[in-house]
Amino acid sequence: MRYLSTRGEAAQLAFEDVLLAGLATDGGLYAPLAYPHVAPGEIAALAGVPYAEAAARLIAPFVSEAASEAGLPGQAEAAYASFRHRAIAPLTQIADNLFVLELFHGPTLAFKDLAMQLLGRMMNDLLEKRNLRATIVGATSGDTGAAAIEAFRGLPRVDVFILYPHGRVSEVQRRQMTTVADDNVHTIALQGTFDDAQNILKRLFRNKPFRERVALAGVNSINWARVVAQMVYYFTSGVALGAPHRRISYAVPTGNFGDVLAGYIAKRMGLPVDRLIVATNANDILARALATGRYEPRGVTPTQSPSMDIQVSSNFERLLFDATGRDHAAVRAAFASLEQSGAFEIPPAPLEAIRAEFEALSVGEAQTTAEIARTWREAGYVLDPHTATGVRAARTRLEKDPATPVVALSTAHPAKFPEAIERAIGHRPRLPEPLAARLEAPERFTVLENDEARVAAFIAERARAAQI
Ligand SMILES: *Cc1c(COP(=O)(O)O)cnc(C)c1O
Repeated sequence: MRYLSTRGEAAQLAFEDVLLAGLATDGGLYAPLAYPHVAPGEIAALAGVPYAEAAARLIAPFVSEAASEAGLPGQAEAAYASFRHRAIAPLTQIADNLFVLELFHGPTLAFKDLAMQLLGRMMNDLLEKRNLRATIVGATSGDTGAAAIEAFRGLPRVDVFILYPHGRVSEVQRRQMTTVADDNVHTIALQGTFDDAQNILKRLFRNKPFRERVALAGVNSINWARVVAQMVYYFTSGVALGAPHRRISYAVPTGNFGDVLAGYIAKRMGLPVDRLIVATNANDILARALATGRYEPRGVTPTQSPSMDIQVSSNFERLLFDATGRDHAAVRAAFASLEQSGAFEIPPAPLEAIRAEFEALSVGEAQTTAEIARTWREAGYVLDPHTATGVRAARTRLEKDPATPVVALSTAHPAKFPEAIERAIGHRPRLPEPLAARLEAPERFTVLENDEARVAAFIAERARAAQI
């Protein structure tokens, strides 16, 4: 499989190079030349197959170069071996036709582990093969950073630098990042928002001398390998609920649009997905874009679901690319307009195409708290605040169409957000051991101003790839 940039001005690459590149050199995102098709018989045959094996089967056509494809089953096996639940991504029913897909059984208790653990193995094996070092720089609203650190800590060929917005991640999220002792892990508390951190990251990638000097590799949700790894649990949960013979809708707590884009890709591959329901918190750019056709970031409002406190949903570019019939010029024009005037209009035809598959709901703070309380009262089940937005959106869908099952993706373990849970149900959920003990370790982080040059210098001084 080969990949092209959404903006059409970067070289086409093979999977392995996309894996290391992250963002394309023209500022675009990589997309596969075509989506592989999974026939109904192949979908049915996934029933009862262990998660790691299902992942290897579904991801193989995206990888397709002989070497990567051969390594995939072992990488998937290793990636999911550390999960605390044998099913890796189990389903729990909480109401009629309403299911929660638990994606929080990995080492950092959030869904990002499902992709990051696999990405870490893929990258490490590739760097070994090419005898190279790389520098991972990530921007995080909380969970990506911890997941990246857990996936790359201690790897001899990789240094990890994680930028997070100072004071805007939960204490558990911060401690998960700052209590890791490995020398190759560096946490930077940026004096700004998540969007500032992501902006600096984008600039670093466009800074060619810097990129080459430190052998920059990206692991943010724009990394194609992550999106593809997330496609797997749409299939496994779909099959558990009767796919390919039954249509299923998915409600997805959304920030950067990576997770829900993976659901769209699963659909393009042949999974019978009915609706893709984008759940946002007060940071509702996607809900507004779908309602009005205007994609316009506003200031970020801090909420009790901080991993969704995002106003620039980067992966939306991949959807826009497909919805415009893969029109590079239209995508370039949209993002030029975004940069110059702070917004773009989605043209009528692509907007119709998007609305045919997606709907969106913005869920406010009080509704989120009420949903956590309701699900606890009615089902004895504790939702984390991110998941609660998805469950709220799923219930809204079920009111319109009670016959089609809805899977709400549970993106984090409730114990990561104890204050929000206590507010809703009066007690704090317990962190699973051994994480609880680990988080007591001393913290290590550096506060830096919101300034690209300062961040670049900090990284270049410490990255081993730059030291040769
Ligand atoms: C990252 C994250 C999200 C948002 O996922 P995107 O792929 O950025 O849309 C939602 N919930 C939690 C807990 C997260 O960590």
